Formats: sequence, structure tokens, C-alpha cells
Amino acid sequence: MITLSHISKTFPGTRRRQPVIALDDVSLTVERGQVMGVVGPSGSGKSTLARIVNLLERPTSGTVTVDGVELTALSAGRLNEARRTIGMIFQQFNLLDSRTALANVELPLELAGVGRAERRARATELLERVGLADKLGSHPAQLSGGQRQRVAIARALAPRPSVLLCDEATSALDPASTTSVLALLRELTDELDLTTVLITHEMDVVKRVCDHVTLLEGGRVVDSGALGDVVRRPQSPLATRLLPHPQ
Ligand code: ADP
Ligand code: MG
Repeated sequence: MITLSHISKTFPGTRRRQPVIALDDVSLTVERGQVMGVVGPSGSGKSTLARIVNLLERPTSGTVTVDGVELTALSAGRLNEARRTIGMIFQQFNLLDSRTALANVELPLELAGVGRAERRARATELLERVGLADKLGSHPAQLSGGQRQRVAIARALAPRPSVLLCDEATSALDPASTTSVLALLRELTDELDLTTVLITHEMDVVKRVCDHVTLLEGGRVVDSGALGDVVRRPQSPLATRLLPHPQ
């Protein structure tokens, strides 16, 4: 479903700053229906990788293919269309404070030109699915962190994407909300036939919901494979550090 092939990304230097090699020859495949965990310490290139999957950031070299379409070969107009197949959620939710939960979920549908009745119906159904049937009219400030992330998930799913990118989606949540949001992401992946990329600095998050995992360090992939395999035979000092108790 997602193929990154020999992706490198260098941020150019400025007078005050050296250039940064954020990603260095990263190749990665995510099969349809998988929840792929991407784990690494702060600064290892995880967010850059997420932004490259939907081409919010252009790679310096390499190709991105999603659902058989090479995004790196598309014109700007075609790329905007293709991006609708990719939803994204963030640590800080990025909801609009002035809009209700319902209006936040409707926003991407409004932008896509979906009619009022249909977008209201779809947004309502999604908010019900994520457990917020009684919060349609609430504003973000009236919701807990876990509830805000559920609104963000509903919004990301509104355009019916086939890929969901989650960048530190549970990093701002308490343990109970983390557990329920992770369970929800796993359920939605299976129910809606999504392919999900779960980016996190916490190996524990990955161990709870992912079937495959990729370890990033210094912009390079240091290990990748089925969760059980990576956990059983850590191949790098990073894996050992992230997995203090190999099983
Ligand atoms: P992570 O999400 O794993 O913490 P990032 O992908 O955010 O890592 O960052 C990887 C590296 O790239 C870091 O050294 C970061 O400072 C650098 N970086 C990220 N975005 C930019 C940018 N827009 N300009 C310059 N450097 C950047
Ligand atoms: Mg990050």
C-alpha cells in the first residue's frame, strides 16, 4: 500500500546552521491492512518521514508510491487529489477552536465540495463511531485530550482515506486515553480496511497495536520486520535500548 524507495531528505543549511540530513536512504514497505509502527528517538526523522508519505515535504531523492500511484511523479493538481487518500493525525490534534466537533469533522468535506446534508450525515456517523455521539456540538476547549484526538481521527477519516498517518498521536494523552485511542485505531484499521502508520518514540505503544515495526535512528532504518521478530532479535544498540527486556 505504501512504498518508500531510497528516500533521502536534507534540509539546507543557513548562515547560522549546518545542513541537516533528516532521512538517509530510507526504504520501507507497508502492506494493506497493516498497522506499521515507526519508532525512534527524538530527531531521528519520524515526522519528516510522515510528511514525506503524503508529500507535505518533498524528498531530496527517492520515490513515494501509495496505492499504486507514484506521488513523487504527480503534478501539483493531481497530487492534491491523491492526498485525499491519506489522512493524518498529530500529537497536538490541530482542531479549530472556533468550530464544534461536528464542524471540525465536516471541514475536509466542505473543502472537497461535498454537499451540506451528506457531510453532516457522514461527520455525525464518524463521531458516533469514535464514541462522541453526545459531543457533536462541543468545542475543543470543552473536550478532554482523548476526546479531542477522537475528533481528529473522525476528521481524518471523513474523506474516506485508505491510509492513516499518526504522528505521536498518543504522546499528549494520559495512560487511560492512550489505551483507548490505540484500541480505536486498531479497530478502525480492521473495520475500514485502512493501512495505518503509527509514529512514536515509545516502543510500548508499538508493542500494543502494531503488527510490523521499523526502527529509525539518525535518519536511517536500523531494523524493520514483523513485531515479534524485531522484539526477539534486536539487531542494533537502538533496538536494545528501546527494548530493555527482550522476550
Ligand atoms: P522526529 O520526528 O523523529 O523527532 P524530525 O523528523 O522532526 O524528527 O526531525 C529530524 C531532523 O530534521 C532533526 O534534526 C530536525 O531538527 C530536522 N528538521 C526537521 N524539520 C526541519 C526543517 N523544516 N528545517 C530544518 N531542519 C529540520
Ligand atoms: Mg516528530
